[in-house]
Amino acid sequence: MAKEERLERKCKICGKTFIPNKYRPNQEVCSSLECQYQRQLENMKGWRKENPNYFKYKEDNEKSWRQTCRERSLQWRQKHKEYLRLYREANRERHREYMREYMRKYRKKKQKEEKSEVSNNEAGAA
Ligand SMILES: [Zn+2]
Repeated sequence: MAKEERLERKCKICGKTFIPNKYRPNQEVCSSLECQYQRQLENMKGWRKENPNYFKYKEDNEKSWRQTCRERSLQWRQKHKEYLRLYREANRERHREYMREYMRKYRKKKQKEEKSEVSNNEAGAA
């Protein structure tokens, strides 16, 4: 009995006596869910008190970072809107040109394959 008395502690939160976990001899709170939750809350509060700017800083940082990102991409897009439009148009034109050329070659090749003699004469004429 004396041994158990030595082990017993009073819970900091509910005041009940409890036997600390053998892996956590410094346990100050009993293992009831309520008290464990309360303990976590207290830890959080204490931590936040010690680091009052942590969340604020993080939020500000994140916000400004996101804002910067968004603004940058917006600026970039606005700046390059005209350029992108021209680029797309040029690309479309280039693509059309490419397809035209491709089809021309494809038809020539096909003609050559089907009737090589006629195709040779046509190529000479063109
Ligand atoms: Zn307790």
